[in-house]
Amino acid sequence: MTPPDADHPRTDSPPAPRLVVLAGPTAVGKGTISAYIRRHFPQVWLSVSMTTRPKRPGEVDGVHYHFVAPQEFQRLIDAGEFLEYAVVHGRANYGTPRGPVERALASGRPALLEIDLQGARQVRQTMPEALFVFLEPPSWDELVRRLVGRGTEDAAEQAVRLETARRELAAAAEFDVVITNDDVRRASEELVSLMSSRPSAQS
Ligand code: 5GP
Repeated sequence: MTPPDADHPRTDSPPAPRLVVLAGPTAVGKGTISAYIRRHFPQVWLSVSMTTRPKRPGEVDGVHYHFVAPQEFQRLIDAGEFLEYAVVHGRANYGTPRGPVERALASGRPALLEIDLQGARQVRQTMPEALFVFLEPPSWDELVRRLVGRGTEDAAEQAVRLETARRELAAAAEFDVVITNDDVRRASEELVSLMSSRPSAQS
């Protein structure tokens, strides 16, 4: 684990519960980590994003995403309902509904956003007190293997996502903490431990 950036001391952060923003390159396993946390750490509140992309087999509306039409997504942008939103992989819109995040934090639950790099940068602007965590693959070859092995995208889509991943990997240095996804359980436990400990207690 990389310790918090010395240029951004977090000693003035509010105490836990806290907002953790998890980002990382495509296919690194953010979704798997979220699913593991949903199952094993019910005290953590997980944001459910809105998206305009089609539902994949096995996905449940309202659990994995809120699947909405482009017109509805635009209406929510205009109404200021998103904490952040972005076009991901040049294809679909994804966004974090603002209200549920604010309510979760107000209720005292630690909250987790699993979003892309563009979204993480937006949240950095509006909620700099959040903890920004970058999930990295054990290696580039492993990332390619996971993306191709997942089999949910065609070859053209895989190429777009690999290009995005290559750029996103270079952004790790912008984050407070880097977690290597070498093992889902270990990485999930490391992430959850960050949600309940004060920054000064890490390292
Ligand atoms: P997928 O379509 O494979 O579920 O997700 C594609 C990408 O969209 C992932 O990198 C995921 O982290 C990102 N993503 C999911 N929800 C959001 C969101 O609410 N906002 C942003 N900016 N990205 C998101």
